[in-house]
Amino acid sequence: MLHAVRRTGLVFFPAYDWAISPSHPEREERLLYTQDQVLEEGLLDIDGIIEYRVRPAGFEDIRRIHFCVPDEAAVTTESHLISAGGCLVAADAVLKGEVESAFALVRPPGHHAMRVVHGNRGFCNINNEAVMIEYIREKYGIRRVAIVDTDCHHGDGSQDIYWHDPNTLFISIHQDGRTLYPGSGFPHETGGPNAQGMTINIPLPPQTGEEGFLYVLEELVMPLLEKFEPELVINSAGQDNHFNDPITNMNFSARGYAALNARLRPDIAVLEGGYAVENALPYVNVGIIMAMAGMDTSCVKEPNYDTDYRPQPSEITGYIADLVDRLRGVFLEGGLKTVPCEEGEVVQRSRDIYYDTDNIHERQHEKIRCCKACPGAFSIASTSNRGQHILAVHVPLGACRACRDIGSAWFEEGTRGAFTHVYLQDRVRGVYEKT
Ligand SMILES: [Zn+2]
Ligand SMILES: [Zn+2]
Repeated sequence: MLHAVRRTGLVFFPAYDWAISPSHPEREERLLYTQDQVLEEGLLDIDGIIEYRVRPAGFEDIRRIHFCVPDEAAVTTESHLISAGGCLVAADAVLKGEVESAFALVRPPGHHAMRVVHGNRGFCNINNEAVMIEYIREKYGIRRVAIVDTDCHHGDGSQDIYWHDPNTLFISIHQDGRTLYPGSGFPHETGGPNAQGMTINIPLPPQTGEEGFLYVLEELVMPLLEKFEPELVINSAGQDNHFNDPITNMNFSARGYAALNARLRPDIAVLEGGYAVENALPYVNVGIIMAMAGMDTSCVKEPNYDTDYRPQPSEITGYIADLVDRLRGVFLEGGLKTVPCEEGEVVQRSRDIYYDTDNIHERQHEKIRCCKACPGAFSIASTSNRGQHILAVHVPLGACRACRDIGSAWFEEGTRGAFTHVYLQDRVRGVYEKT
């Protein structure tokens, strides 16, 4: 019998009866072939690979992180709750020490879902990783977490959620936003005033191959993690960098993904994208599971590797070397130009957010209190073209007295204003209110 070198948990939820639309790339059969491949390779028969049953997340799990407009029931289905809940199962398995790492193979995906949720953006309603991380923080008292997002698309939802959190390092490696949805994720996006340098974006050019990905991992991502010293590393494992993926332009193979996972060694991986459902996704997922279990992945090969895989062009190798040099200078060698703000000052920003799947336009106005003592309270006034005008107030874990006070004041003031709903997310007291 084969033995896993490291005990690995698997949570599998294909959501067979849920799709955005019948022809949408994120549809029912996305994980069917993976399931076949996992069974065919006998991965579940390996001693030390343990399959866990899913359970749904509750609205109380979602409320720690999201402001759902008008409420959780309106923007989620049972599939969304089970997808997020599958991640909570993976988290429990790892944090209780039953396994060394776990992979939540779940859908619908989540990394484009932002803190305020009016509907579906980039196939996502609920940010599975964020729901999981805040559950872990609440239940296991863990503070410092790193997210390494290796999906081909910029993880703009996770970035948004952790923009102001100095205790969460968010690193996204993705296809350059000038060439792919959602069009963001540039190096100058480095985090809010209280969390400068905690958001790190690494946009790579189309046609980047595994050589480029592994170079970025070795030269930039691993040193960044070493410097941050997280208690937990989460991998948003999107498999759409594959050379066969129909909606992207990258050049990654299944074996490359396995090598990346083996080096990164995340505590928990959560599936995001991956739309070559027959000839890439099953092999990438199998490679990752085997790498997590510490097994030899040299035999992992997709059917058309020999005919379709092209090595990375040399000009791209040069481009990536220059980019990595520049980012090392900024994030590792102290070259980050921080925005100075005075203690207690309230910094504001406005922005427009588009929900491509649901065609919603949102306008946000955000205020955050500059704070040296805690991550800082913030509020978001959000208006959508569906007629909602809400105010969302967040008091972070570990909030100081002054931030708790200003959070309460913003909430009180909001209830007297002309909002359709006013929300309070008080992580210190565990109070989640909505008018
Ligand atoms: Zn993606
Ligand atoms: Zn504070």
